[in-house]
Amino acid sequence: MHMVRPGLRVRSIRRVYRRAPSGRVVIHFEEKRPGKPICSNCGKPLGGVPKLKHVELRKLSKSKKRPNRPYGGTLCSTCLSRLITRAVLREAH
Ligand SMILES: [Zn+2]
Repeated sequence: MHMVRPGLRVRSIRRVYRRAPSGRVVIHFEEKRPGKPICSNCGKPLGGVPKLKHVELRKLSKSKKRPNRPYGGTLCSTCLSRLITRAVLREAH
């Protein structure tokens, strides 16, 4: 591999090997794929949150990025319902 510019010589960037039309294998540097979005309370994967890069995420409307409810995109539905139930019970006492 030839020397590339210093900013690309890091492992925080993904290396993708592509064959050019000339038959030569070239390295393309791409942004890393993001991990699965998880619930901040129980760690379960969240539903309704797309696993996209920032550039792709920018093309979506806000309602397509996370569930439209309090703590949507942060807590899973089970944890939120438990949180609300506990808060209501605390009010009752
Ligand atoms: Zn949860």
